[in-house]
Amino acid sequence: MIAELICVGTELLMGQILNTNAQYIARSLAPSGIDMYHQVVVGDNPKRLTEAVRTAFERADCVIFSGGLGPTDDDLTKETVAEALGKDLVLYDDEWERIVSYFTSKGRTVAPNNKKQAMFPSDAIILPNPNGTAPGCIMEADGKAAILLPGPPRELIPMFRDYAMPYLLRRSGHRLYSREVRIFGVGESEVAYRLDSLLKQQTNPTIAPYAKTGEVTLRVTARCQTDAEGEALVSPVISAIQKELGACVYDTNGRELAEVCHFALIEAKKTLAVAESCTGGRLADAFINYPGSSAYFIEGDVTYSNDAKMRRLGVRAETLDTFGAVSEECAREMAEGCRKAANADFALATTGYAGPDGGEPDKPVGTVFVALASADETVVKRLNLFGDRDRIRHTAMLNALDLLRRKLCTK
Ligand code: AMP
Ligand code: MG
Repeated sequence: MIAELICVGTELLMGQILNTNAQYIARSLAPSGIDMYHQVVVGDNPKRLTEAVRTAFERADCVIFSGGLGPTDDDLTKETVAEALGKDLVLYDDEWERIVSYFTSKGRTVAPNNKKQAMFPSDAIILPNPNGTAPGCIMEADGKAAILLPGPPRELIPMFRDYAMPYLLRRSGHRLYSREVRIFGVGESEVAYRLDSLLKQQTNPTIAPYAKTGEVTLRVTARCQTDAEGEALVSPVISAIQKELGACVYDTNGRELAEVCHFALIEAKKTLAVAESCTGGRLADAFINYPGSSAYFIEGDVTYSNDAKMRRLGVRAETLDTFGAVSEECAREMAEGCRKAANADFALATTGYAGPDGGEPDKPVGTVFVALASADETVVKRLNLFGDRDRIRHTAMLNALDLLRRKLCTK
């Protein structure tokens, strides 16, 4: 099956916004066996859009549209496509009521021109939009289909994922099965380098990397007839990735690092306390985010000042005087003091320079120490993180989680 993408919007042609919808849709289609040979960007102009629609229907089975479903006069995708397919638009009362209540619920009044967002061909398939006013729709004609999606990515992405993609897969007779390999402790470029031959070989399943702040995710997707066949295709590839990256792979079913720690603590029946300086509560939050964390989470101390580090965790004044608060020694005493005070099996601690100002010549901004105290040992790790304050605090938190994860999950 051949699909074509038409992104509508003068702002795209002018370079005012980046065409991220094209990237998202193309990337979602890539592993599906649905081919895409052309992508078109066209302005909010009925004549040129009509030409693009005609051309696309000559060479594709399904044409996907992004944008131009809004209430204003320049939003003309639906009207233009319907006309090209010889369909009239009629008002859908239930869609209109939904739009009215969407506005009312936000304390706004609905303008008359919003009515056009509730108009579709009488035989259209409506695609719900929980994140905005404009529903999407599918118009079928002559064995082909036009799939119309709203421009804003926060509306388009869920609609594409939940409605358009399943529709496309049904039409194409394909099915996708995927699993997410979550990786921590190696960067995206190193992952790409170490998996080079694996990444190049793959056509089914495909391996697509996604970088999230401080970590790497690989989505392994197989084209298949059944989930069992999908799993049979995906699992040897996941094993090969695990073999290459070892303990850096922390999950193969898309779970977060904190989630892996959460379940590992519950399973091990161990308790945890955290002492945080630069992460300022994020570490505690990462655990408490999960229901059931009361089974192991005892307390979190945000000890930002030197005084609090001494008073609450028993960090020694000499340690702070000699090595400073951002030091291996301080991180160690924070973790050990916290573990003792909370009477916990494990304690994590963080201390570092999150910037943008501060730091020392031999400990620039981004220098962070994370520590894990347990009954048999205390491990401290020095990190040289980069990025802005938010990124440094986030990656410090992830590194602390990773210390615990490695302690609990690798032997
Ligand atoms: P529209 O429905 O075409 O008026 O688009 C509404 C908004 O969605 C635009 O102002 C952009 O912010 C966003 N948008 C539209 N098309 C795209 C696209 N192809 N990629 C990313 N964002 C888009
Ligand atoms: Mg527009």
